[in-house]
Amino acid sequence: MAEWSLECSACRVTAPGDALASVCPSCGQPFLVRYAWPDNAQPRREGFERWDMWRYSAVLPLAAGESPVSLGEGCTPIAELPALARELGIARAWVKDEGLNPTASFKARGMSAAVTRARALGVTQFVVPTAGNAGAALAAYGAAAGIAVRVFAPASTPSPILATIRALGAELVLVDGHIGDAGKRSRAWAAEHGAFDMSTLREPYRIEGKKTMGIELAEQLGWTMPSHIIYPTGGGTGLIGMWKVFGEMREWGWLPPDVQLPKMIVAQADGCAPMVRAFHAGADHATPWENPSTHASGLRVPGPLGDRLILRALRESGGDAQAVSEDAIRADTLALATASGVDAAPEGGCALAVLRALVKEGRVPADARVLLFNTGSGASYRF
Ligand SMILES: *Cc1c(COP(=O)(O)O)cnc(C)c1O
Repeated sequence: MAEWSLECSACRVTAPGDALASVCPSCGQPFLVRYAWPDNAQPRREGFERWDMWRYSAVLPLAAGESPVSLGEGCTPIAELPALARELGIARAWVKDEGLNPTASFKARGMSAAVTRARALGVTQFVVPTAGNAGAALAAYGAAAGIAVRVFAPASTPSPILATIRALGAELVLVDGHIGDAGKRSRAWAAEHGAFDMSTLREPYRIEGKKTMGIELAEQLGWTMPSHIIYPTGGGTGLIGMWKVFGEMREWGWLPPDVQLPKMIVAQADGCAPMVRAFHAGADHATPWENPSTHASGLRVPGPLGDRLILRALRESGGDAQAVSEDAIRADTLALATASGVDAAPEGGCALAVLRALVKEGRVPADARVLLFNTGSGASYRF
């Protein structure tokens, strides 16, 4: 089992791993988890026992003898799409279907890790602002841990997701506006009632759960890497978590020494593309997007707290960023579903639409081996 502490992603201030933490107290940027193993050992790429994301518990924040709060998250399938690759004119294409997680999105992975730590540290009440899926996932993991959950979500959140939040026993408060507005309400409520704030990157362990997507895809591809990963980006935790663990796996010797890490590509919608704008402006942080709007509700995050970390991952990986129209998202949600049999969410459709645009412009070459993420389920949008 690992031991860990927290390190600020910007100013490198450290904090202990065995106390509740939020953002860095000196600069306000997110903490990242740093691990150490007894006797300076490296974790081994073997002995994975469970068929959920905790098969990688040796490199996750789980204490010796502790059981995780788990609902079978992770171990989602990757399907290869040869006909789609031919049509696009690239070497290989795959889709990883995160819609098959508990409560139908990869948010389950982050909440499983975060609720496990919070329970161990004695939290009795959770609060979270959400574009939808994070609220549904926290409702589920809070229920599994026996801890009360309050969710602040935009009133415009797809109704099946709101219904899931209520069905799992969470208190749901609808907010006029977007996730940033929900965040203000949520932080005020947390301060007033002493609830623990599970907001994206204000809590250091959600990202550790999400990094398991990166370990898993490597294991599924025989410990090789795709050349490009296209990730529908809202708060950016999935992308940041995967980029973090690719570096960790290289350090641990889990990847071939000469491995070429994937180029990380941000996919966003024309109606809310703060990361695309910041990347192409050469900025090191993003400015909030005015009047964010897209039917791919997981991408409606106008001012992500992880902006610096997202941009760093794009630059370090030699990646790219692209936004596409609502019509392109609709067309490619259907195209992804019919090419794969995966019940694609609009966020997954956005990833395919971005791939199509980048191939057309020569920003993804003909020999590319591209992994698309379908981050949610189409079922969450049928109402
Ligand atoms: C939350 C969410 C996203 C955005 O994920 P981040 O890792 O926060 O960028 C994308 N798609 C779906 C379906 C989501 O729920």
